[in-house]
Amino acid sequence: MRRSPAFFVRCAEIVPSPCCIASLSVIGSRKRKLVHATGEKSVLVIRRLRCTACRKIHHELPDCIVPYKRYESACVENVITTEPSEVDVAADNSTLYRWRSWFCSMATYLLGCLESIAIRFYLDVVKESSAPSQAAHHRFGRYVGDADGWLARVVRPVANSNLWVHTRSAFLSEAL
Ligand SMILES: [Zn+2]
Repeated sequence: MRRSPAFFVRCAEIVPSPCCIASLSVIGSRKRKLVHATGEKSVLVIRRLRCTACRKIHHELPDCIVPYKRYESACVENVITTEPSEVDVAADNSTLYRWRSWFCSMATYLLGCLESIAIRFYLDVVKESSAPSQAAHHRFGRYVGDADGWLARVVRPVANSNLWVHTRSAFLSEAL
């Protein structure tokens, strides 16, 4: 089976394929479960798209999704950003721990992706603050701002640039 990471598409937006920067044709859809902070689940219908150049299959990725995570991105963001005692997500402690570990291990890579995307597209990036010992998520503020939804704003360009990697480690046994 040929697997490729999902990537972001907005309905009204024409996004080129992340593999060949070619056009995409819609060839169907699949269902994807999404878990909310309350623990409630919903099912999203995700379009399957085919690159017209190399025929690779991609899946669109709405803003609420972090690739390979079952919980919506706002939950993951909440857990990464909030003190453990104040987290408001119905998930067990091992899941919360795994998300934090995932984010810590990915942060440097993701920052590198954003940096290279900024250079490629000549984007102005806010100068790095000189304040020492910033929490990992604060370092993303200069690229995507620190308002709610920042994790989705990090995921989107990285996934669209075909740079998303699926890390598997001791902390990441299954896609949670
Ligand atoms: Zn392609």
